Amino acid sequence: MERVLVSACLLGCRVRYSGSGARSGDPVLERWLREGRVVVLCPEVAGGLPVPRPPAEIRGGDGGAVLDGVARVVDRRGGDVTRHFLAGARLALRAARESGARVAVLKERSPSCGAGRIYDGGFTGGLREGDGVTAALLERNGVRVFGEGEVAQADRYLRGLEREGEEGML
Ligand code: SF4
Repeated sequence: MERVLVSACLLGCRVRYSGSGARSGDPVLERWLREGRVVVLCPEVAGGLPVPRPPAEIRGGDGGAVLDGVARVVDRRGGDVTRHFLAGARLALRAARESGARVAVLKERSPSCGAGRIYDGGFTGGLREGDGVTAALLERNGVRVFGEGEVAQADRYLRGLEREGEEGML
């Protein structure tokens, strides 16, 4: 069975900077949970940050630039939390590898989990193109990342992987 890495906040875990969750309620996620295929992780908490915590955004690029050492993650007070974001991303990749997950459904716009578009570093709600740190590391290592608004696409992708696996066994 294909496993799926899912942002903990999307499953209602109260791990966001504000101390809240962001339960998606998508019936596909609920079905995946029942099927036992979900691997739950919050990269920021896994990386050692507390709940609650000041919100953080990426300055000078996106998650890929953070991985390359040319951008930093800072919190709203100006504290540099890059090492926590990198540690969380590595733990997410490890969780994906250990579970065999080749698909992730992550919280959109987050400086860790966002894929495609993230907050722009100005703490004003503005967005920029790019991935969060965890999303970037997962993508670089072959894990296909979808946002919470793309669960149906993720489910189709997952079924495609399972079909390929079944055909490979024939
Ligand atoms: Fe949710 Fe990801 Fe932020 Fe954790 S790091 S609260 S899982 S968006």
